[in-house]
Amino acid sequence: MESVLLLEENAAFARVIAAKLHNEAGCHTVIAANLAEARRQLESGVEDIIMAVCGFSQAGSPGGAALDYLLDKKIPTIALCEKYDESIRQRLADKPVVDLLLKRTTEDLNVLATAVRRVLGNRGLKILLVDDAAPYRVTMREMLERQLYTVFEAADGREGLDQLEKNPDIKIIVTDYYMPVMDGFEFVTRVRKNHKQEKLAIIVLSGAREEDVAAKFLKFGANDFIKKPFSSEEFSWRINLNADHLELMEQLRRTANTDYLTGLLNRRAFYAAAERQFAEAVAHGQTLALGMLDIDHFKKVNDTYGHDAGDVAIKDLASLLTRHLPAADAIARFGGEEFCVLARRKTPAAILEMFESARKAVEASSTRCGDASFSFTVSVGVCMKPMATLEETIARADALLYEAKNGGRNRVCAG
Ligand code: GH3
Ligand code: MG
Ligand code: MG
Repeated sequence: MESVLLLEENAAFARVIAAKLHNEAGCHTVIAANLAEARRQLESGVEDIIMAVCGFSQAGSPGGAALDYLLDKKIPTIALCEKYDESIRQRLADKPVVDLLLKRTTEDLNVLATAVRRVLGNRGLKILLVDDAAPYRVTMREMLERQLYTVFEAADGREGLDQLEKNPDIKIIVTDYYMPVMDGFEFVTRVRKNHKQEKLAIIVLSGAREEDVAAKFLKFGANDFIKKPFSSEEFSWRINLNADHLELMEQLRRTANTDYLTGLLNRRAFYAAAERQFAEAVAHGQTLALGMLDIDHFKKVNDTYGHDAGDVAIKDLASLLTRHLPAADAIARFGGEEFCVLARRKTPAAILEMFESARKAVEASSTRCGDASFSFTVSVGVCMKPMATLEETIARADALLYEAKNGGRNRVCAG
C-alpha cells in the first residue's frame, strides 16, 4: 500500500497528524517514533513509502540523523519543526528537503496536509525546463524531482517547442528569457498560439534588468514570473501554486461538463462535442447517427421503489451504456431519465446492432437498491443520418423515440 512515513516521537501528536493527512491529503500514514523504527519500516518493504514527514528539532541530533537517513535513501521528505528561525533554515539550507514547515498550530497542519497532497499529486505531472545554462537546468531539475515532478529539458525555445510537440501532456513550462536560437519571449508567444493559459502554465525566469520585463511576459501569456536569483523555496512554492491553479481549473471544467449523478457528459457539454463532430462529419461525408434513449415508465420505478432507487437505476443505465456502446463518440445524460448518443463512421447495420444490443442488455439487467431488486426497459429513437443541423437531427431522433414509445416501448425505432 502506498504510504507516507511520519517520523514523530510524540505518539499522540503523531496520531493527530496522521488523521489530518488521511482526511485532507487522502493518504495512508505509517508512524515511526524514532530512526530505528523508521529504518525497520523502510527495510521491511511491507509498505510502499512514497514520501516522509520528519519531525526536526534544532538541538535534535535524533531528528537530524533521521532526516539525513531519509534523504540518503532518496525519500522526498518534508521537515517539520517547532519554530522557523534562521539557525534552522541554515542547518537545512544544503539539505534537499521538499519543504520546511511548522507543526505548532492547526493552521500549520493544514499547510502540511496541503503540501503532502501537492507532492503526491505531482507524480506524473510533467514539467519542461527551457534554459540555455545547463547548470541551472540541473539545479532546477533536482528541485522539481524532489517534489516528484517528471522533468523534461530543452536548451532553447526551438528545442522547447520540439519537446512540447513530443510530449503534449506537459502541464508546466519554466523558461528563461535570453537564450540562443529562440529566446523566451518568442517561445512563449509561439506556445500560446496553441495552448491556453488555463491548461498549460508558463513560468518565466529572468535576471534581466530591463524595466517591465515581467509585465511584458505576463501580457503575452506567461502565468507567472520569477526574478533571478531565487531561493529553492520560492521556486517550489511558485511551481506548486501554479500546479494547484491548473488542477482547480481542470476541476472546474470537469464540474461544468459532467452530469453529477452519472459522470457522463451533461447536455451543455454534449452540444459542444456534438456540434464539432457534426460539422466534421458533414465536411468529410462521414456517416453520423444520433440516438435518444428514455427509460420506460420511470415514474412507476420512482413510485414503487422510491426516488433513491430511481437514481441508482439512472446510474446503472449510464454505466451499462458506457460498457455496451464503446463505439459511441459521445454519450450524455440529456436530462431526467433521457440519454443521448452520437456515433460516427459506422455502417447502418452496425448502428442498429449497437442500439439493439444495448436495449437487450438493459432488459436483461437488474438494479439493486437496499432490499429491492427490479428491472426496467428503454425505448430508443435513432436518426441514422445527419439532417440539416444538429438540432434537427436531435429533433428527428426525439420523434422516433416518441414512435418507439407509442409502438409499445422497449424497442428501437430508426429512420
Ligand atoms: P415513459 O415511458 O413515457 O417515458 O414514462 P415515464 O414515466 O418514464 O416518463 P415521465 O416523463 O412521465 O416521467 C419521468 C420521471 O422521471 C418523472 C421524474 O420524477 C423522474 N425523474 C427525472 N429525473 C430524475 C432523477 O434524477 N432521479 C429520479 N429518481 N427520477 C427522476
Ligand atoms: Mg421515461
Ligand atoms: Mg422522459
